[in-house]
Amino acid sequence: MRYSRLAETYEKIESTTKRLEMTDYLVELLKETPKEIIDKVVYLTQGKIYPDFVGLEIGVAEKLAIKAIARAAGKREKEIEEDLKTSGDIGETAQKFMAKKAQATLFQQPLTVEKVYQTLEKMAKTVGAGSMDMKLSLLAGLLTAATSKEAKYLIRTVTGNLRLGIADMTVLDALAIAYGGGKESRCYIERAYNISSDLGKVAKILVEKGLEGIKRFEVSIGKPIRPMLAERLSTPEEILEKLGGKCIAEYKYDGERIQTHKDGEKITLFSRRLENISDQYPDAIQLIRQSVKAQTAILEAECVAIDPDTGEMLPFQELMHRRRKYGIAKAMEEYPIALYFFDLLYLNGKDLTLQPYPVRRRNLEAVIQQTERIRIAEYIITDNPEELEKFFLKAIEEGCEGLLCKSIAGDSIYQAGARGWQWIKYKRDYKSEMTDTVDLVVVGAFHGRGRRAGTYGALLLAAYDSEEDSFKTVCKCGSGFTDEDLEKLPKKMKKHQILKKHPRVISTIEADVWFEPKQVIEVIGAEITLSPVHTCALNIIREGSGLAIRFPRFTGNYRPDKAAEDATTVKEIIEMYQRQLKKFE
Ligand code: ATP
Repeated sequence: MRYSRLAETYEKIESTTKRLEMTDYLVELLKETPKEIIDKVVYLTQGKIYPDFVGLEIGVAEKLAIKAIARAAGKREKEIEEDLKTSGDIGETAQKFMAKKAQATLFQQPLTVEKVYQTLEKMAKTVGAGSMDMKLSLLAGLLTAATSKEAKYLIRTVTGNLRLGIADMTVLDALAIAYGGGKESRCYIERAYNISSDLGKVAKILVEKGLEGIKRFEVSIGKPIRPMLAERLSTPEEILEKLGGKCIAEYKYDGERIQTHKDGEKITLFSRRLENISDQYPDAIQLIRQSVKAQTAILEAECVAIDPDTGEMLPFQELMHRRRKYGIAKAMEEYPIALYFFDLLYLNGKDLTLQPYPVRRRNLEAVIQQTERIRIAEYIITDNPEELEKFFLKAIEEGCEGLLCKSIAGDSIYQAGARGWQWIKYKRDYKSEMTDTVDLVVVGAFHGRGRRAGTYGALLLAAYDSEEDSFKTVCKCGSGFTDEDLEKLPKKMKKHQILKKHPRVISTIEADVWFEPKQVIEVIGAEITLSPVHTCALNIIREGSGLAIRFPRFTGNYRPDKAAEDATTVKEIIEMYQRQLKKFE
């Protein structure tokens, strides 16, 4: 097939803004395309040579393109640069200069799609020393054989500027019309795309095996599945009603979504945008290898940064330190992660995407051996709005964004690539910052593990209730302590240690060690939130809830100058909470 046929179609598509006309032009082109190269034509019309998840780009910078045009046109680079300044479009500049050379081109063999594709593929795969020269000569060779119109589109393609405005959905429409027997077949073709993210492959199966082949299309390892997404509602009542009165509510972890493909020992990780991010997370790969007991599997998880000392979840921003190409080993140590799995889409050769969620989750629980850093998403199954609200507050307090409430009905399949009502997120409308530090009383402690064995993992802290003359818990704090602090803490606290909870301490949490309320420390948190477990301000703002400090951190200041009764009071915490809310009214 001649490349000029593609260039003509591109020109027509560019001349319209109407989606229906674009689709028609595409249908004509696809109908004329030989079976063997339909995938290549589909990739090329999207300005690519592979689906995105392969991560191979043709990668020609503007500078190199200018050199190639100059070489093919027999002009100086300066001239090309000057022209580009006025045209602003490197494709047009290429067209203009190659038109001047038209004479010579007349005697050339016409450029074929196969030849263009092969050459672009070679360019994409050329790496290392001398690769620039190689790319230059390949591109100049193509331009020399091209007509001026072809040159325009070739240059736009290699520089990543072929923006025809053809969305994936338009290609699906065109395929349905050209080979599926009409638009009605679109849903099958779309599903095949949603579970493979590979338009070229879908086109090829459709052309070679017909609609029947597409209907039999299954999930395969190595091809990322387009993610299922959630709608949003703002009250537990609405959520339960929408989900048929009962649902599974899971923590909505605040990290990065990762789709894991396991094929024996080979593990590939894809981001939410379906890029291959395996290189960023060698630690995740190692953890998955140890914990996922399946030969082949596709699983979904949220990857969250954790405090290496306490295992507590850290805010999303901390995970962003892991977004890097270099220094990965160091980042892995400084910002360790945990994975919270929430779906299983494929298991030992079987596509599970059409199974209801309870079935997928059962299989997920059977396949994952949970460890401290590989977990299954925390959940409850409930039909009670109050229980849902309590679970929501607990999720927030522990560092999550809120809840994901999911359908457990018979039709709760995995809707790849769709945002639907099977999943409903429940988040807060506001997020606020805590600007002041607070002085809190140490009333209990929890034993540390791992690096913290022999000392405390976290302290249970309380505010002073001056009306009742008691101490009400407001957070568990394990962050901000230096190694030296940790070493000294058990000794420092020894003199205050008592055998059971002090009568003036009001707590629903069971600490491992209890203290007499004496030691005051300074703490800063991210914000104050409603809490289903802490007793500070219990039932004051809302029935059944107290207040808690989210992401608390020891500032390094012990306050020996303060008595426990001089600590921040419950009343002050309530005022801080209300001030925060005011900002968002
Ligand atoms: P958001 O900003 O809310 O994350 P989004 O468009 O990326 O928006 P949503 O559909 O709103 O995605 O929410 C689903 C996202 O929540 C998933 O992409 C995933 O990254 C994350 N997530 C965290 N915990 C879970 C869970 N238990 N189940 C499903 N998704 C979860």
